[in-house]
Amino acid sequence: MELEKQYGARNYAPIPVVVSKAEGAWVWDPEGNRYLDCLAAYSAVNHGHLHPRVLKAVEQQLHTLTLTSRAFYNDRLGRFLKRLCEVSGFEMALPMNTGAEAVETGIKIARRYSYQKKNIPADKAEILTAYRNFHGRTTTIVSFSSDDNAKKDYGPYTPGFTNLPFNDLEALEAAITEHTIAFLVEPIQGEAGVIVPDEGYLRRVREICDRHDILLILDEIQTGFGRTGKLFCFEHENARPDILLVGKALSGGVVPVSAALADRKIMDVITPGSHGSTFGGNPLACAAGEAAIDTLIDEGLPERSAALGEFFREGIRRIDSPLFSDVRGKGLFIAIELKKEAGGARQYTEALKERGILVKETHVDTIRLAPPLIVEKADLEWALGVLEDVFSEG
Ligand SMILES: *Cc1c(COP(=O)(O)O)cnc(C)c1O
Repeated sequence: MELEKQYGARNYAPIPVVVSKAEGAWVWDPEGNRYLDCLAAYSAVNHGHLHPRVLKAVEQQLHTLTLTSRAFYNDRLGRFLKRLCEVSGFEMALPMNTGAEAVETGIKIARRYSYQKKNIPADKAEILTAYRNFHGRTTTIVSFSSDDNAKKDYGPYTPGFTNLPFNDLEALEAAITEHTIAFLVEPIQGEAGVIVPDEGYLRRVREICDRHDILLILDEIQTGFGRTGKLFCFEHENARPDILLVGKALSGGVVPVSAALADRKIMDVITPGSHGSTFGGNPLACAAGEAAIDTLIDEGLPERSAALGEFFREGIRRIDSPLFSDVRGKGLFIAIELKKEAGGARQYTEALKERGILVKETHVDTIRLAPPLIVEKADLEWALGVLEDVFSEG
């Protein structure tokens, strides 16, 4: 901790625990204390830590071939993208590394498509986004953040984005102009505090985008790969986007792997030299990604997330603490919203750490609970007891 504080830029304020080992849903500190990981690296570790099937694929690949760049073909990329396209129902994918890069890629695809296929005048393309969005940390992405902390003093900001209230269909319809090309949105806002929109919202968003002939870009970097109880959150309402952004759990949490997905008619605007990444689509990432997708499907992790999520959420609701103002979520993507008089979530995330549960507050008053999807029901039962202890004490 001291070394990190001395030599590391202060861009995080970690919970004071050092994680030095992990397996499945559990992690250990150097003193041997065990913690249930209820953050799962912001849903990058949906498969649990060190999933044997993912590890085996990565270990084999590690001793065979790790990086070629895209100057050449490699023997893993095609089969990985085929698998990704099969499970997501899209025709083509563009592989990158981090989530922010997938978002940037989606923005580029949408802009090119609108200039080349829809006669939007040069540099006029407008993309609608939602207040309290989180799409990553690049200068363009923070340009449309509404979080002052993420944005302040990083200007000049990239133009071409307009924020609207989330979960507000009228605002969306009213904001569309002749230059609007896309609506970029998270199906459930993760970093904002697991904000679940009204039932039917996403389906109607899809209809509005169709009616106005604008692209729907869904950022499923956090909600994807089983987190909300379906493989992708858009499946709950059959609201298939035009461009799907994935990352985080795509690799089972082993290496950074992300992608933007679309059908051929849209993806065809990307031509040789117009976009790229040195590490994007590297064989190690592809081995991890392919094994992670197969594992998720074969182990039925989305269904497990749906069932255990329901159990865990109802259990938390039943604690009925006077400090709770809301308990919400979908699948194992859950948030507890604390009342203002609770005095902020941080003291509770630290108290939970002391009792063996790792969670992180998001904003001031929200605690997100998102354990790996392989978590055992018995572990969640134990966690409910701990939560009850911590929150009934007040
Ligand atoms: C984490 C996240 C990102 C950014 O991913 P990075 O890998 O940190 O760049 C983008 N969108 C959403 C919804 C996320 O949760």
